[in-house]
Amino acid sequence: MSNIKRALISVAEKKGIVELAEKLSENGVEIIATGGTAEKLKSNDIDVMEISELTGYPELLAGRVKTLHPAVMAGILARRSNEKDIEDLNDNEIEPIDLIVCNLYPFENKVENNPDDHSGILEEIDIGGQTLIRSAAKNYQDVLVLTDPEQYAGFLDTYTEGNIDKKYRSKLARAAFSYIANYDGAISDYFGSLDVESDQKDNFQVSFNIKAELDRELKYGENPHQKAAVYRSKDLLSGTSLLSARQLNGDDLSYNNINDSQAALDLILEFDEHAATAIIKHTNPCGLAIAHSPVVAFRKAYAGDPQSAYGSIVAFNREVGGSVAREMIGGRKYIEIVLAPSYTEEAVEALVDRWSDIKLLELADMKIAEKNDYEIKSISGGFLLQEKDIGVDDLADLKQVAGPYKDKEIKEKELKELYLATMAAKHVKSNAIALARGEAIVGIGAGQMSRVDAVRLASKKAAGRQFGGVLASDAFFPYPDAIEIAAENNIKSIIQPGGSIRDEDVIKACDEHGIKMYFTGYRHFKH
Ligand code: 5GP
Repeated sequence: MSNIKRALISVAEKKGIVELAEKLSENGVEIIATGGTAEKLKSNDIDVMEISELTGYPELLAGRVKTLHPAVMAGILARRSNEKDIEDLNDNEIEPIDLIVCNLYPFENKVENNPDDHSGILEEIDIGGQTLIRSAAKNYQDVLVLTDPEQYAGFLDTYTEGNIDKKYRSKLARAAFSYIANYDGAISDYFGSLDVESDQKDNFQVSFNIKAELDRELKYGENPHQKAAVYRSKDLLSGTSLLSARQLNGDDLSYNNINDSQAALDLILEFDEHAATAIIKHTNPCGLAIAHSPVVAFRKAYAGDPQSAYGSIVAFNREVGGSVAREMIGGRKYIEIVLAPSYTEEAVEALVDRWSDIKLLELADMKIAEKNDYEIKSISGGFLLQEKDIGVDDLADLKQVAGPYKDKEIKEKELKELYLATMAAKHVKSNAIALARGEAIVGIGAGQMSRVDAVRLASKKAAGRQFGGVLASDAFFPYPDAIEIAAENNIKSIIQPGGSIRDEDVIKACDEHGIKMYFTGYRHFKH
């Protein structure tokens, strides 16, 4: 039997403690306990020395200081094989403590049950108990530590059978340190949750712990030679999450599927009032339209760039029914993924019948996150963190800065097209230009290194269908050259953030060509 002469018991969770203390007592172990624990043991006829008797101090500061005393700490931390340590104990009349039984104030329960009681929550941060546990675990070769009632039975067996060896001691020490690590993690999460709110107002130092757990491993990453996985995060709220999508058909989503689906979701969430369809390739939209019904929205979106739509991801903000499914099938090219708030049975059957491997994702609760939604981009040795680009695109107070009819109200149809084009440009890789006409996107210039090239590309894609339509740019025009090309392409209105030092030249060019121009004040870079 291992030589346990004295045990210190200080437990918030008192389950199983009486039985354990009884057994220890029977084996001649002297028991010391803190206030509440001592009371519990005494009321069960167990001989206990109160901690204040050992320290010579009462419990101070309403229990903040109970066991924090050299008589306790040195008794735990003294190395039994170190002469100098033993001499110190003897000189100061301190007796060694061989077993610590301690579990901590229920901090997490308190946060869960009374999240607004900040000072109450602070009181649930255990101090002395942590120190007891750490000290015993540090000195594990001489001192045993139990932190969980589930350990008691196993401990008593090992103890009475005389099987307490070095391996068992180190196992208990490891359990103790991981118990403390979890406990401290919860405290740090709590303080992180306070920081997110207060720091956002100031200088955006979001000091949360990014706690993410493995959701699933992926076959591979963006390319077959790259390993990849999906992690689910607790702290980074992202509104509607793809991680909660229900997959109704098709193989597991790949890395690129998930990346593209997120782009599709981000774009479709911009539309609420009207039925909308977004068609995505490599995270860029190649089709986008609004209409009174999803059937028409799809038809118009697909017509935006039918060639690019092969193997695309199609997102809807309305239920996909039989007629929408038939519209999608009708002689059209392969669609890889569909994303919608719901599907009728008829639609699922028809789509699966046409493309047996089509991936159908159902996202019942489609809504944009209002706050605390962040984006992360990795850099070597760290990451960039930013708020998502959401919540600034109300075109109600749009300012016309050039062109005719300045004193007239913008027509509803034009406003819809301006919004559509702005949303497309916002969700296209910069430099981005989007042309809209007839409540549909007719041409997109994506990811160009110069804005004027993006205008050229979008016009080429539109192939004449932009006549009398609108053009949106994700950022200001640095020179009026893009306006010249827009004029050659019969663009009626331009919408852009404004803010260039050459805005005056750009406005002048629009006036000369009779093009209306609106400033939004919001840039939508997406790199
Ligand atoms: P009791 O119910 O026995 O009065 O208190 C038990 C709790 O007190 C345990 O959860 C233990 O971790 C905690 N504890 C022990 N010593 C100290 C101390 O010095 N300061 C604080 N804040 N908590 C302590």
